[in-house]
Amino acid sequence: MDINILRHSCSHVMAQAVKELWPEVKLGIGPSIEDGFYYDFDKKEPFTDEDLAKIEKKMQEIIKEDKPFIREELSKKEALDLFKKLKEDYKVELIQEIPDEKLSIYKTGQSFIDLCRGPHVESTGKIKAFKLLSVAGAYWHGIETNPMLQRIYGTCFETQKEVDKHLKNLEEAKKRDHRKLGPSLEFFDIYHQEAGAGLVFYHPKGALLRTIIEDYERKEHLRRGYQMVITPHIMQAELWKTSGHYEYYRENMYTFKIEDKEFVLKPMNCPGHILIYKSKTRSYKDLPIRFFELGTVYRHEKAGVLHGLLRVRGFTQDDAHIFCLPEQLRDEIKAIIDFVFDTMKVFGFGDVGIELSTRPEKYIGTDQDWQQATQGLEQALKEKGLTYDINVGEGAFYGPKIDIKLKDALKRKWQCATIQCDFALPKRFGLTYIDSDGKEKQPIMLHRVILGSLERFIGALLEHYNGELPLWLAPVQVRVIPIKDVIQDYAIKVMKKLQDNLIRAEIDNRNETLDKKIRNAEIEKVPYILVLGEREAKQDAVSVRKKGEGDKGSKRLEEFIKEIEEEITNKVT
Ligand SMILES: [Zn+2]
Ligand SMILES: [Zn+2]
Repeated sequence: MDINILRHSCSHVMAQAVKELWPEVKLGIGPSIEDGFYYDFDKKEPFTDEDLAKIEKKMQEIIKEDKPFIREELSKKEALDLFKKLKEDYKVELIQEIPDEKLSIYKTGQSFIDLCRGPHVESTGKIKAFKLLSVAGAYWHGIETNPMLQRIYGTCFETQKEVDKHLKNLEEAKKRDHRKLGPSLEFFDIYHQEAGAGLVFYHPKGALLRTIIEDYERKEHLRRGYQMVITPHIMQAELWKTSGHYEYYRENMYTFKIEDKEFVLKPMNCPGHILIYKSKTRSYKDLPIRFFELGTVYRHEKAGVLHGLLRVRGFTQDDAHIFCLPEQLRDEIKAIIDFVFDTMKVFGFGDVGIELSTRPEKYIGTDQDWQQATQGLEQALKEKGLTYDINVGEGAFYGPKIDIKLKDALKRKWQCATIQCDFALPKRFGLTYIDSDGKEKQPIMLHRVILGSLERFIGALLEHYNGELPLWLAPVQVRVIPIKDVIQDYAIKVMKKLQDNLIRAEIDNRNETLDKKIRNAEIEKVPYILVLGEREAKQDAVSVRKKGEGDKGSKRLEEFIKEIEEEITNKVT
């Protein structure tokens, strides 16, 4: 059974239950979503937790009655009359927006009617396991000037066991929420009233984590034939007019005027990289050219959609643009895919989901362009033996793309890598290279990110590991705890020795009990604790406690350093 059909059918049952309980409520829309469904309702009083329980009970009754989902076809006029009579204003609006002359409705039970294309399961009894989760405000059609409806979210699976597992995951996810972990581990905070919303402040530990990630990325990009570039944060509006962003992306851009010149705070890195490409004549022999930048961009997002590190107004992408010959496209894409998978592995993400988005209804570029690029992307995926979903018509108007989403420890998907072909920008900027026949031709341009937004990736990392980062990523790798003041000198010697070996170490020499210091280090999720007493000092030794494994006994300092250096070098996750 298609699980989405089951979930969508469950949303109908929820809407029916709501209408039976509160007949005056008006219906919005009710699609299936990942792991569940929702339905939007216009109801004066807010839904309470008790209401959700009531709705669930009513839904159980409807399911028990095993009512069939009956499809009927109507003309647009008949549909309009019907939903006007039912006083379903939002449905009336939807019908008016649908260009088709024939519409379908679905009936369940005595009186419940919904405008819907279908399909559904045969009857309500096919729904075996669901749970309503939460209520949130949602503007009709997502437009802020429209009425605010109440969206009830639910989950639905084929079996109760799966629902239980999902609920457990949600519980666990709540505990791991990076919006809680980040500030409590002193990695970052996001909201400063006087600075504004959606802006991230990295505290020392978070800044260190990000630097570690960035250092890794720089090295890997150089190793894989990329060249590093750095482009300005503000550039004149003219540039963004050429790129098209000024026309199509204006509402997300921060712009300002100085001395009659209009400037834009860059929302993307592409135009800057293009200017560097254009700075001299390029020959086919120069291609492929791969420009990489850890580019910080600013995009205005509406306050309502800001969410932790996932949706912010300023973030840094590991962004690259590749300019290549048509015949180089497939190998470039394969190399990027390898890069993505190698990187995911290094950071400890084993599982990914891949999506290929193809030509939408409105597009630019020739059919041949699209065919070549889409084939290039698809063949690269096939040659790598990867399975992927195709999102028909979901590509950008300027080219097809591959999205790779990582799956975390709780099986949740996080958007990370994107590989995007672009026919628009090379044309708009008049990019060329001199081919072997001496003629000027237009290069293929790829936009790609590996981790995507570093902010979002750090959020994913924290939640994936529940804050217990692998040793190579942990901002503090070793906490040194001397038992008595007498050992102070030895503790400093140990720390210096660790630091000499580029191991990130700290001493805890507060006037606290040993237990409390150990407990603190554990709460802060420090991977290694070294307890130093008289015996250790005499023997040049350290007593080792490893996070998650407890007491590992006493070791010679040299031996400990050698061991953890190996763990760091191998990037054990
Ligand atoms: Zn439906
Ligand atoms: Zn780009």
